[in-house]
Amino acid sequence: MHHFQYKGKELYAEDVAIKDIVAKVGSPVYIYSQATLERHFKAMDEAFAAVPHTICYSVKANSNLAVVKNFINLGGGVDIVSGGELYRALKAGVDPQKVVYSGVGKKDDEIEYALNTGILMFNVESEQELTRISEIASRMGKKAGIAIRVNPDVDPQTHPYITTGLKNAKFGITIERAIEEYRRAKDLPGIEILGIDCHIGSQLTKVTPFVDAIKKLKNVINTLKGMGISLKYFDLGGGLGIQYNDEAPPLPADYGTEILAETKDLGLHLLFEPGRNLVGNAGILVATCLYTKQRDEKNFIMIDAGMNDLARPALYGSYHGVKPVVNDQDGVIVADIVGPICESGDFLAKDREVPMFKQGDMMAFMSAGAYGFAMSSSYNSRPRVAEVMVKGDRFEVVRERETVEDLIKGEKVPAFL
Ligand SMILES: *Cc1c(COP(=O)(O)O)cnc(C)c1O
Repeated sequence: MHHFQYKGKELYAEDVAIKDIVAKVGSPVYIYSQATLERHFKAMDEAFAAVPHTICYSVKANSNLAVVKNFINLGGGVDIVSGGELYRALKAGVDPQKVVYSGVGKKDDEIEYALNTGILMFNVESEQELTRISEIASRMGKKAGIAIRVNPDVDPQTHPYITTGLKNAKFGITIERAIEEYRRAKDLPGIEILGIDCHIGSQLTKVTPFVDAIKKLKNVINTLKGMGISLKYFDLGGGLGIQYNDEAPPLPADYGTEILAETKDLGLHLLFEPGRNLVGNAGILVATCLYTKQRDEKNFIMIDAGMNDLARPALYGSYHGVKPVVNDQDGVIVADIVGPICESGDFLAKDREVPMFKQGDMMAFMSAGAYGFAMSSSYNSRPRVAEVMVKGDRFEVVRERETVEDLIKGEKVPAFL
């Protein structure tokens, strides 16, 4: 469910015509619907209303300050994977006690920054990281709250690049090792054991893998109890999928029912780290047709957005729906929609039946709110595009379009040239 709908022939974001946004801000542009963001957050929040819980939005899905702030206003915390994300979340006004810090490669300065900030806990992803966090915290005269990210070895049945909970993935600590690490953590001077964590993958379209993971972690929790280690938090990660094409992911309410059935007897405070589910369908990328080209065997539609602006099709072969901003084309055509980048992987849609776009026509790539702008780059020296947020009949630029001056910021020709 989202708030990008047609009124007559024109595509709207809530009560604003997309073409009016492009007239003012230019193309390409990312557009986010505040009502959709809010609706998705509330759906997740309400699904767990029966138990103590915190929705820690996974900042990496869309790290724009306005998006992060929106969730903080609704009572959310954040899941971060870098010092940069912590900086953003603090700028957006997050309560440090609602911050969890995941990621396999936390650096010393990032750990120090998080300890100085007073975050809730680190989700520890390796034995050496646990030791490191303890050393740094002790040196600072602090205790670091931690959960161990357990890799439960369950198959989330999603794209291999976003599968994280199988044994061969770089993420987390295996169940057997995790129990040993908790035993060790108990006696480490800089550590306070707070919880247990898992995150098994992204774009999951079934609840079963989540439930399988929970069952495995419950065994760990019971083993720990027997060792005299009691936990406060159970962090279930993110990963709930969205509809891009014909997937039918569970509704947050159904996900909630099944998760609650598995976890309610534990009496733990639940943490969730949703990213895609909150922002994916709340954003679109709008681009403009520059040229079309017809060959015997293939049609191409060249647009002003490329894989540097929306990397998912090139990276994962993923599908984004394409809709005309003004629905006035004559018929349909099967075509590749391609960007200006000098790479054959630079396509946003492949062999797709789409409206017969002409030069100057605008189109919206749907479900681009997650891992869209956040993964964009300036490859081919293309300034990153503007981001806009809509609320009702109002809209504001929430990130200015980059300029060519921005592109060379920090670059310098050495004196010896
Ligand atoms: C990426 C990530 C998430 C969010 O995943 P989604 O599929 O976007 O919900 C949550 N937790 C961790 C540790 C992550 O790396």
